[in-house]
Amino acid sequence: MYELFEFRIPREYALAHLPDEKTSQALKTVITIRTKKHSNTYQKIISLQKLFYSQGRSFFFGWNIIRKYSNEEINQSALLHAIIKKTIHTCGEENETLYDDGPSCSYCGAGGIQKSDLILGENKIPDTEKTDIWKTYAGEIGVSAKLAKVLTALGHSPDNLAPIRKRKNTNEFIPGWLQLKTHPILYQIAPQTLVGINPFEIEPESISTNEEKPHFGEITGSYCDSQGNYACPLGHTIGLNLLSEIFVFHRPESLPISWTEQCIGVRRGVLRPEHCLIINSDLHRAIQACAIKGLEFEMAYQTI
Ligand SMILES: [Zn+2]
Repeated sequence: MYELFEFRIPREYALAHLPDEKTSQALKTVITIRTKKHSNTYQKIISLQKLFYSQGRSFFFGWNIIRKYSNEEINQSALLHAIIKKTIHTCGEENETLYDDGPSCSYCGAGGIQKSDLILGENKIPDTEKTDIWKTYAGEIGVSAKLAKVLTALGHSPDNLAPIRKRKNTNEFIPGWLQLKTHPILYQIAPQTLVGINPFEIEPESISTNEEKPHFGEITGSYCDSQGNYACPLGHTIGLNLLSEIFVFHRPESLPISWTEQCIGVRRGVLRPEHCLIINSDLHRAIQACAIKGLEFEMAYQTI
């Protein structure tokens, strides 16, 4: 595996501070730089970000971590972290899907329960020619009938698949797609997994459970969000972003598809913390054999 850190940097900043990185992108307004961790460029970007941050600015607009594996590495991995490539810019809560946030954690806001079928605008749903899986920005997942068939053939319970209803007429289902519910929860994320706000800012110590907190709903985002500290003291949400590959505690059994108990992300507006999707090698082989589109894979490591 090799890992690259990608930064999207305003052109004027990149040209002024990283002259050695001049590329064919010099005419673009945002320059993308990919570099290895601990390289000179990486260290310089860290220093510049700290300097800019102290001035109330940010040196880069956005960042991403890219991991590439050999076919051998991926094909020999017993577990894989599956990453859904397509996010559609809508979600159930914006389309009258019912949620009960009563059971949500009053620190991190995780744990709301979807009480109705997922309702979405049909015009936001991708074509099954382009992908077999997508998620909303609230983390609700849609799978094509083709992928649903692959999952159930491997023993995934049909109870974890549900119709998606059309917003314009909730008596009608969106054809060709089903909601994939985040069940079963099987894995505990192990502490070797790195989380944080960005690659330079590892999550601070969890807030104390003794701190007086408002109940969720009295503030715009979760209590964790209001504190800028995304590690729930009760352990439901472990951080804002995943910064490393995932390590999970070993389980004797594996399932074609399952989720981590702990979430990553934030409850803010309609955003919800999300469980991580773990698949086993049987499903990975079936996905490849059936040419299922729309997933990327990282190795997931088991520890005891
Ligand atoms: Zn929590």
